[in-house]
Amino acid sequence: MQSNLPTAHLQYWESVFFGNPRPPKKRGSFEIEKHPFKKSVIPRSHAREMCYTKGMSLSAFAPGRVEILGNHTDYNEGVVLSAALNLGTTISGAARGDCSILLRSSEATEVSTSLADIRPSGNWSDYPLGVVKMFAEAGADIPGFEANFTSTLPVGAGLSSSAALEVATAAFLMKLTGFYREPMDLAKLCRRAENEFVGVNCGLLDQVTSLFGEAEHAVFLDCRTEAVRTIPFPEDMALIIVDSDVKHALTGGEYNERRESCFEAARRLGVSALRDATSAALDYAQLPDLIHRRAAHIVGENDRVLRATEALQAGNPEVLGKLMSESHRSSRINFENSTPELDLLVEIAEGVNGVLGARLTGGGFGGAIVALANHSEAERIAKEIAGSYHEHSGHPGTALVCRPGDGAWRANSLDARRQ
Ligand code: ADP
Ligand code: MG
Repeated sequence: MQSNLPTAHLQYWESVFFGNPRPPKKRGSFEIEKHPFKKSVIPRSHAREMCYTKGMSLSAFAPGRVEILGNHTDYNEGVVLSAALNLGTTISGAARGDCSILLRSSEATEVSTSLADIRPSGNWSDYPLGVVKMFAEAGADIPGFEANFTSTLPVGAGLSSSAALEVATAAFLMKLTGFYREPMDLAKLCRRAENEFVGVNCGLLDQVTSLFGEAEHAVFLDCRTEAVRTIPFPEDMALIIVDSDVKHALTGGEYNERRESCFEAARRLGVSALRDATSAALDYAQLPDLIHRRAAHIVGENDRVLRATEALQAGNPEVLGKLMSESHRSSRINFENSTPELDLLVEIAEGVNGVLGARLTGGGFGGAIVALANHSEAERIAKEIAGSYHEHSGHPGTALVCRPGDGAWRANSLDARRQ
């Protein structure tokens, strides 16, 4: 059962709201994905030539991110609403004057390696070294350097400390080498580092949000057209993130099963991806119950992202809050990627005065929730949610009050480095 209604809706919406969603590629612009993947990072002879003198100290910052709406829509070529956070990772360092790289983090053990011998080690340093390798392969002349990372983000809590680490490294390397890339190319380069060097199969949302974010704005990403826009976020609203203290298990079969169900639904509906499906077409097709519910979640999420974007434009946070709560119900019932702990957190949050809505954020199967709440009362609300969660579950209930912050592109004035 084919329907082009939602595509029409998305295209209509894109053209009205954002203008041309597919800007023509600039001639001569760099295509990361088409770049040949070389075996060695930097030829030894080349590495020797690049032993620069010790340089002055440089620093760069990249934020973490939170998914506001658009759950599992990325691999269905759909749309996502996220925000860069006012929490992130800072890198400070300088060229060393030799051919080695020395990396330190307040969160992990020191790692040193040679420029000519950059390979994955299964260590935290794979994230920054993956970015170094991708820069080198793209043609950057990278000198030996040392760098120190500090972070205000909880590590491994679903707020994308990994993308913050990569993007901070990329911004630092741009400053260190003068090697300029457009922000989308930089986001793809960082994702490639995580996919190919670290070996984690993440989508583009984390790196895009960490790069393109803007203070007081949400970030809209269209995963098919790669259009990115920032949308004003209500001044009087905060995002409260509460960790369930239950680890997400995306490496398990659940994630792959959800993907397969979505692809199966698209096949049965005769569309190339669930982005092109409507709820009317879905109801008409009479799919098996499980496939129907999985698809209904994705179709609903795409629709909620569009409605939320319009609500934000209209300065209507109540609608955004309702859509977030609707999203969680769909996760619980249709996509079944919630957990009893996440359900409890959402239920507690929704019962607290000043909360407009709440939902699980990220892949699900554990991790954190995000609640939309009045900024002036956010600290009190966060304490109330965390305290009640601790009382009812025995888990600590760690809460963070966040506002949308600048992404790395703005925070480091990277545009000024265009040559
Ligand atoms: P998330 O991205 O949601 O925080 P991930 O599991 O994707 O969770 O990434 C967490 C990993 O990233 C950590 O285990 C560590 O290897 C690395 N990491 C992130 N931030 C830092 C940091 N500041 N210092 C050292 N390693 C870090
Ligand atoms: Mg991550």
